[in-house]
Amino acid sequence: MVAELAPPGPGPLVGVLDLQGDVREHVAALHEVGARSRLVKRTDELDGLDGLILPGGESTTLSMLLESTGLFDAIAARLASGNLPVFGTCAGLILLAREVLDGRPDQRMFGALDAVVRRNGYGRQRQSFEADVAFGSGEGPPLPTVFIRAPFVVSVGEDVEVLAELDGVPVLVRHGSVLSCSFHPELTRDRRVHGLFVEMCGVPEAAGSGGGLFG
Ligand code: GLN
Repeated sequence: MVAELAPPGPGPLVGVLDLQGDVREHVAALHEVGARSRLVKRTDELDGLDGLILPGGESTTLSMLLESTGLFDAIAARLASGNLPVFGTCAGLILLAREVLDGRPDQRMFGALDAVVRRNGYGRQRQSFEADVAFGSGEGPPLPTVFIRAPFVVSVGEDVEVLAELDGVPVLVRHGSVLSCSFHPELTRDRRVHGLFVEMCGVPEAAGSGGGLFG
């Protein structure tokens, strides 16, 4: 049986890949911005979703688990059809990228985000840290971010919008219906990034304080 989590209501139904990572925190964040949620461990749980979150974790492990569950090909097919907005955080960003540096040779990526990322690219000194960054137009308050052995965005294609940067390096990007960040928005109290994603999933009034920022 496919279980939907609270709250019931008009918000979009957003799946959270439930193989590894901060799954509960993403579910709580989605509910705070008015979305419904569903944990996704099997291919049939992708049916009827308005969006999907790929949480952080270990991209190599996630790649293996995605393959063994059949979810890799099923998600790739939904992404190719263009009707599944997707949000990757940290390892999720790695999974979505076109090219990964310092990855394992056998790890797979969806290639839905035109970006080159370096796994664990912030190096030993800055393996985990917090920082405030300007968000979107920069008119609102700074966005608090938490980085944990984060991927470093080396370059992005010209169709990729940079929505936040740290020291001139993109940390939150959007490419069509793909949203990705190298930090963990689910670990802070600020819900603007989840609000933006829920807005991308098709119900603007559910977008919380991020609503309308990016038109
Ligand atoms: N370093 C991890 C990886 O390579 C990502 C870390 C994270 O998701 N917090 O997949």
